[in-house]
Amino acid sequence: MDLKIVLLGPPGSGKGTQAERLTRELGLAHISTGDLLREAVKSGSELGSKAKSYMDAGELVPDDLVIEMVGEKIRGLDDGYVLDGFPRNLEQARDLERITEVDAVVDLRVDEEELVDRLSKRRTCDSCGAVYHLRFNPPEREGKCDRCGGQLYQREDDSEGTIRERLRVYRENTLPLVEYYREKGVLIDVDGARGIDEVFQEIIDRLKERD
Ligand code: AMP
Repeated sequence: MDLKIVLLGPPGSGKGTQAERLTRELGLAHISTGDLLREAVKSGSELGSKAKSYMDAGELVPDDLVIEMVGEKIRGLDDGYVLDGFPRNLEQARDLERITEVDAVVDLRVDEEELVDRLSKRRTCDSCGAVYHLRFNPPEREGKCDRCGGQLYQREDDSEGTIRERLRVYRENTLPLVEYYREKGVLIDVDGARGIDEVFQEIIDRLKERD
């Protein structure tokens, strides 16, 4: 399938997890702006040094930086993709339209207290990026990635204060995109508060229904 999918939804709603499953199942590319920005920070590039303070504070990185980064990625692709974490405001959505049309926008709905719990117990592998939850999906050996043995760490922006700020930023900037895409007739809204498999199956079913 040559689909172009956007994953909306607040931080902690499972965008990364579902994007990974979708890309595996449907043979699409995964474009996560959060991952790309974290890589840029790690590599010490100019983009990374410009983005870091915004990310640590839970704020959005300025649009021009993110849009250029996404544009470059998308133009290099022939096939479909899942955009995870982009667009995050109206400006970015309009810019995306100038580059490409999207087929479906999946919104994962999860309430705020559940999001805070998920994010504060989230651990990420510093080597392969695999994501764990200390209660629901703990690693077999404490602090080590099951997949590659890498070291697990807590993202700097997954501390409680920054989580609250990220949720505020989401409500103010990203939430309006739900109605924006609903009006365009491409929105698929899914209850994201269920297990990973159930949420995934519903996304697949609803994508099929569109055809
Ligand atoms: P995420 O991994 O999607 O939670 O993103 C982590 C952080 O990267 C966010 O809190 C923002 O600081 C930054 N970021 C990711 N995607 C975007 C975007 N589309 N626009 C602006 N900032 C972004």
